[in-house]
Amino acid sequence: MTRRYNFCAGPAAMPESVLAQARDEMLDWQGRGLSVMEMSHRSDEMVGIATEAEQDLRELLGISDDYAVLFVQGGASSQFAAIPLNLMAEGQTADYINTGEWSKKAIKEAKRFGQVNVAASSEDTNFSTIPAFDRWQLTDNAAYVHYTPNETIGGVEFFWTPEVAAPLVADMSSTILSRPIDVNKFGLIYAGAQKNIGPAGLTIVIVRKDLLGKAQSITPTMLNYQTAADNDSMYNTPPTMAWYLSGLVFKWLKKQGGLEAMEIINRRKAEKLYGYIDGSDFYSNPVEVASRSLMNIPFVLADAALDKAFLKGAEEAGLLNLKGHRSVGGMRASVYNAVPESAVDALIHYMKDFAQTKG
Ligand code: PMP
Repeated sequence: MTRRYNFCAGPAAMPESVLAQARDEMLDWQGRGLSVMEMSHRSDEMVGIATEAEQDLRELLGISDDYAVLFVQGGASSQFAAIPLNLMAEGQTADYINTGEWSKKAIKEAKRFGQVNVAASSEDTNFSTIPAFDRWQLTDNAAYVHYTPNETIGGVEFFWTPEVAAPLVADMSSTILSRPIDVNKFGLIYAGAQKNIGPAGLTIVIVRKDLLGKAQSITPTMLNYQTAADNDSMYNTPPTMAWYLSGLVFKWLKKQGGLEAMEIINRRKAEKLYGYIDGSDFYSNPVEVASRSLMNIPFVLADAALDKAFLKGAEEAGLLNLKGHRSVGGMRASVYNAVPESAVDALIHYMKDFAQTKG
């Protein structure tokens, strides 16, 4: 068996020890004689797995009892609709900050359900910056302020939390669990699981309890947060296997020393790669230095005609999924929690070799 280094933006690399434990428990979970995916979601076993996963997540992120933690389906993309449906009352406006492709998708969807004000945008810099807070044109009594703390495609990340009067809503799909955050600053945090949490199929919503129970009347039952909150996220059949695997990832994170420890490793990984890119005249990254993502590192070659050869050579060197998003081209290395520092070292080694022979 050979496991290669996987730089995929999502579904992304999983910790190897988690996969090994899942393999060992696959046919017979803890002597119960069946696999987790064969259990009733209402069984004591599965309810135990689910509860423990929630507790571990609460511990990792320091989530207080003022917040509900919901395990739902439909990906972060379904949340683009669920958020306005749940949080925007008739006649209200929601503020959105546009920092790239995922912000744009959230904005487009929200407009279907209510009034949207794009309070700030970095489109004028081709999304290579974050709009300065003093230029945000926020609405008085906005239903909420939505932003994308880490743009997975553009590789742009906020290293500060906006202080706004309205509930702050954050799409943390590609940054959650990469470093500590102060959950108390947010009204709602959501994330698709398939990057730093676990397998695709699960979406996590952390919502302040006082924001529940205000959904628009047209809200589908399954998109209404109250439904999940009232039923321990088991109103219907949840993605049990993804929930179990995410629980194993939470335990792995605790064993690594929690999010403080992950931040140190993640910063070291990112600094190494950006440092090499900046020092080279063959590779470049377009993002302003203060807003460079720790998780998603896009870069381009001096000559785009070499992209194909770069990717082919990378595959041969055991470095997978480095192709940039189809909307921007070039390369992108996603270096989530489960991507070890040795993967970054191997990538830099390959990049050096490639630049030397082809540059
Ligand atoms: N938001 C961000 C920041 C993302 O990176 C992604 C997925 N790459 C999404 C939303 C959409 O997530 P999903 O595929 O779970 O709908």
